[in-house]
Amino acid sequence: MIFKQLFEEISCSYTYLLACPLTREAVLIDPVLDTFERDLNLLAELNLTLRYSIETHLHADHLTSASALKTRLGSQIAAPALEKLRCVDIGMREGEALQIGSVLIHSLHTPGHTANHHAYIVDNGTQLMIFSGDALLIDSCGRTDFAMGDPKDLYHSIWNKVFTLPDESLIYPGHDYEGRHVSSVAQEKQRNPRFKLSEAEFLEIMQNLQLPPPQQMRKAIPANLSCGNIENLKTAISI
Ligand code: FE
Repeated sequence: MIFKQLFEEISCSYTYLLACPLTREAVLIDPVLDTFERDLNLLAELNLTLRYSIETHLHADHLTSASALKTRLGSQIAAPALEKLRCVDIGMREGEALQIGSVLIHSLHTPGHTANHHAYIVDNGTQLMIFSGDALLIDSCGRTDFAMGDPKDLYHSIWNKVFTLPDESLIYPGHDYEGRHVSSVAQEKQRNPRFKLSEAEFLEIMQNLQLPPPQQMRKAIPANLSCGNIENLKTAISI
């Protein structure tokens, strides 16, 4: 499998490129509008055809490039089906997988950061790669104070779903603010300070983080409801 971890520095977001070396078909997980040109160039350089963009969740801190990629490259937009967005071509549901060549991308519903958040799991032949979005970050986790977030749900998503996967599984987060790239289930179980806590302690901390809203939130949420198509905001919401 072809694999690249890509970083967008304004929102400290990770985008992941996965591709089948035989068919040259590719997928981008959580592509960011600010790095649209970079991603186009990389796909061209590697001689890849983008089949899908996939969202882990409705982002509040950056705009997705899903619509721009679809317009430019004809890729389809995949996102959690629970979001019920009109702009989405393929609704991802837990237990279902998306295939590009020899690569299978499995969906896991991991609510808590947002109610409809999904992580994606790929078996690279040696171990599982878990694209954990903003549910599980390295030594941390996503905030739970907006977009129908719920700390209790997040605690259970991590303990009952992510941490039940094999210890050697790799964790690729949706963000990192300190230059870290990858972790594992074993490492997060052992040293993530948020998940060393009891459920009650976790809820107490998450309910009192008092973080400011993300800088781009007022623009990002409405734009991402139309998959980043900022021309088309008025007709985007089907719920
Ligand atoms: Fe997020």
